[in-house]
Amino acid sequence: MSTVSKGKAGSNGTTTTGNGNGYAGGTPRMAAIAAVTNYKPSAPAMNFLETPTQELFGSNVFSKSVMKDRLPKPIFKTLMKTIETGEKLDTTVADYVASAMKDWAIEKGATHYAHVFYPLTGSTAEKHDSFLSPDGTGSAIAEFSGSQLIQGEPDGSSFPTGGIRQTFEARGYTAWDVTSNAYIMENPNGTTLCIPTAFVSWTGEALDKKTPVLRSMQALNKQAQRILTLFGKTDGAMVSSTAGPEQEYFLVDRNFFFARPDLLNAGRTLFGAAPPKGQEFDDHYFGAIPDRVLAFMLESERELFKLGIPVKTRHNEVAPGQYEIAPMYEFANIATDHQQLIMITLRKVAEKYGMTCLTHEKPFAGVNGSGKHVNWSMGSATQGNLMDPGETPHENAQFLVFCAAVIRAVHKFQGLLRAVVASASNDHRLGANEAPPAIISIFLGDQLTDVFEQIKGGGASSSIPRGTLEIGADVLPPLPKDAGDRNRTSPFAFTGNRFEFRAVGSNQSIAGPLVAMNTIVADSLDYCATKLEEATGGDSSKLNAALTKLMSEIMNEHGSIIFNGDGYSDEWHQEAEKRGLLNLKTTADALPSLEQDEVKELFSKYNVLSERELESRMETYLEQYCLSVKVETNLTIEMARTMIFPAAVRYQNELASTCANLQAIGYEFDKDTLDVVTSLVKSLQDSIATLEAAAEKAETNDCPKAHAKAYCFEVLPAMNDVRKYADMLEGYVADDLWPLPTYQEMLFIR
Ligand code: ADP
Ligand code: MG
Repeated sequence: MSTVSKGKAGSNGTTTTGNGNGYAGGTPRMAAIAAVTNYKPSAPAMNFLETPTQELFGSNVFSKSVMKDRLPKPIFKTLMKTIETGEKLDTTVADYVASAMKDWAIEKGATHYAHVFYPLTGSTAEKHDSFLSPDGTGSAIAEFSGSQLIQGEPDGSSFPTGGIRQTFEARGYTAWDVTSNAYIMENPNGTTLCIPTAFVSWTGEALDKKTPVLRSMQALNKQAQRILTLFGKTDGAMVSSTAGPEQEYFLVDRNFFFARPDLLNAGRTLFGAAPPKGQEFDDHYFGAIPDRVLAFMLESERELFKLGIPVKTRHNEVAPGQYEIAPMYEFANIATDHQQLIMITLRKVAEKYGMTCLTHEKPFAGVNGSGKHVNWSMGSATQGNLMDPGETPHENAQFLVFCAAVIRAVHKFQGLLRAVVASASNDHRLGANEAPPAIISIFLGDQLTDVFEQIKGGGASSSIPRGTLEIGADVLPPLPKDAGDRNRTSPFAFTGNRFEFRAVGSNQSIAGPLVAMNTIVADSLDYCATKLEEATGGDSSKLNAALTKLMSEIMNEHGSIIFNGDGYSDEWHQEAEKRGLLNLKTTADALPSLEQDEVKELFSKYNVLSERELESRMETYLEQYCLSVKVETNLTIEMARTMIFPAAVRYQNELASTCANLQAIGYEFDKDTLDVVTSLVKSLQDSIATLEAAAEKAETNDCPKAHAKAYCFEVLPAMNDVRKYADMLEGYVADDLWPLPTYQEMLFIR
């Protein structure tokens, strides 16, 4: 038995079979527990010795080396030029590439090709077309032309566009993204050639998450080159932003998943009392990985390897049932595509092992949520990582400029950074003292903070040395010590040679955060380059003085964003307020940052998003927010009414009849429990009615911002109230009547 449905007995509420709870054969919860404890692997063991995992890397990717083998030399060269320098693509080249791609894909068993794109919902979308066309003689031939490769028209008119696509201009196109390799997606019954694309409207406006990533990388490169030129580095090698996202997720047994309409439809539990044992022992963190989970991880990694995704680390996370997977960093645009593939692959493979992978930011209240730390830096083939401070950062002026640019950018655009991680689900995580607070600040560490403090005072002359770590046992080697400790409470932390944006949600596309980081830093580099160019007038001997002055100014104006202390503490909240830093606690507070003048100017100045594109995004995200809360509201009402209330009244009835029966034969019955249950049942009913009224009222708002505020400040609290009474009832109602798998069961049975 793999799934459990809500098999209720007769509608008159009488118990017909089973153990008296009104469900034939026990509650869905009991059936789920039985199925989980009888789990036997259905996936056949992999023969990993026959094809070692390392040999699989990139085997399903139409990679540079495959192209080199299969394309005529001049064609390959032209294509590489487009990929590496962003030069415009020649359409005759596309015909050759399409033909080679089709042959390769058909050899790999493909019958269809799909233009894959990334709509504003943050998901992955694909439209499949067959290679086969009738040849007019009753047979079919495989066809795939350059124009089919370059452009598709997936319609996709149901994706949110925030008003950009009206019905009279409803066409939407996918455009081949040459920078991201095509790949084969396998299915037991066939394979599909997947072509990463950008999705744009008839008017050329971006309808997706991919297009602005590419545009922002271009902007960053342009401004970074100006700084490098000031330092005499004029080879022009493209500066790209790099990203390494660490994906956290939960695994629950599928039987539990299907017995919980909230998990199934909202990705999180809307009910559930805290378990007697939670994560207080931290006994899950980095613990031994359970066998079934490890089998799932090994297979996921093999699948990801085939797709050329360099996954590297895996471990248990803090919460029970929580895990993490992290790839090696790649160019930001590739990392964005690969991130989506990682989420898809985890979900797919989990199913094979009888589990569901939950990427929601907060599947379980009171238990740590999931984030997606986005490690971000920039570099070029000739200059390497531009965020590497070296041993003595005070002497590394070039690094200091790039770092100062980030400091200025984050301070100036705090609101934007908060907005790009805002979602209904991430709101449950940010600021909950397990994830960074909603206040954006930068952790720099002792060494860099010291250098920048010196700069602020007029110039830096020393760096705190790294030293070694003496462990105190002679058999253990001395370890090189990092120049600064880590700080897990910071939303934006310098971690040695990159910044780590930790407020990003686990379910999110990383495109938005990357677009924001690339563009705000491009803006700051532009600012720095302009100041430095003016001050030096081409005379490099004036550079040092100009740098000192500029950086000291930046530190004075923007240094208040630096905070190395405990981001969870109340003192920080007060201190941040004194410093004038924003504390945008909810999505409804944060998203309107997207319509600030300076944000609009930022994106249009660097050609990343036009005003209309930006507006459309804000509208779409507000709408998504409202829809998510609305679905949760509907689910809360339905589950409370049809699952929890009935269980509670059955128990109430049992208590009441016991009481009556005992009294009839002259015994006293302590009615305390009956009183509590009766009053909780009443509160549950009342709270459901209040929630319904709040939701109805919220729906009367026409303005998207007011709509979101109503859901945030009126509907969500009403929803929490329903939950409160339901969870209290869970602590009273007889265990055999309770219909929903409990936290204890979902988190600890595996
Ligand atoms: P931790 O959990 O300690 O933060 P992980 O090893 O889980 O670290 O993840 C670190 C991530 O940072 C990896 O994805 C890694 O590839 C990435 N990373 C390392 N260097 C860079 C860089 N220059 N640019 C972007 N990401 C980087
Ligand atoms: Mg980590």
